[in-house]
Amino acid sequence: MRLLLVEDEEGFGEALCASLKLEHYITDWAKDGEEGLSLGLSDVYDVIILDIMLPVMNGLEVLQSLRKQGIHTPVLLLTAKSEIEDKITGLDSGADDYLTKPFHREELYARLRALTRRNAAPTLSNLAYGDIYMQQGSIEICCKTSGLSLALNGKEYQLMEYLLRNAGQIISREQIIEKIWGYDTNVEYNNVEVYISFLRKKLNFIRAQVSIQTIRKLGYKLTQDKQE
Ligand code: CA
Repeated sequence: MRLLLVEDEEGFGEALCASLKLEHYITDWAKDGEEGLSLGLSDVYDVIILDIMLPVMNGLEVLQSLRKQGIHTPVLLLTAKSEIEDKITGLDSGADDYLTKPFHREELYARLRALTRRNAAPTLSNLAYGDIYMQQGSIEICCKTSGLSLALNGKEYQLMEYLLRNAGQIISREQIIEKIWGYDTNVEYNNVEVYISFLRKKLNFIRAQVSIQTIRKLGYKLTQDKQE
């Protein structure tokens, strides 16, 4: 999960980034509204945490500008108690939720989980990322660029599907084990690595410009290769 935090208060922003990191969120931090807007327009974030009182451009202006430019990233507004009217304007302008400062960290995490769930619309159509895709009802992984495809076996298929659904995000080995083998299992991390290596070979074989990266100590991430 990748977050954008737009917040001008140094100490608060630093503490927030540190605790989000512990929760395995990757957070980019913009310290004024203008920077927040330009990062937000990249459309790579799962949630934007947006303070209202900001230098250069306030949070509501940032939000309105994002929505006007077609960015639908869920926005969680941070408001002070005195900013009730801003909160209403914010929700009217397309904010998805708000938190009043000061708030408890656990409350923030709960809101973030709710927002990312809401945004993860279940897709029944093709699963695609970069130049690879899996057709619904098929067990093949296909590459648009090379036109090649390969069949996946049961566990490979489940793992590939899981990686595609979470493309660009880090998924931990624990998550993979729970997802593919279930909670009640003696499966070890080695098994995950074995299947990851099978999938890497298959992606290589179909000449996909997509790779499964190992993120040290955290897990794996499906990423697009940089174009030469
Ligand atoms: Ca502020």
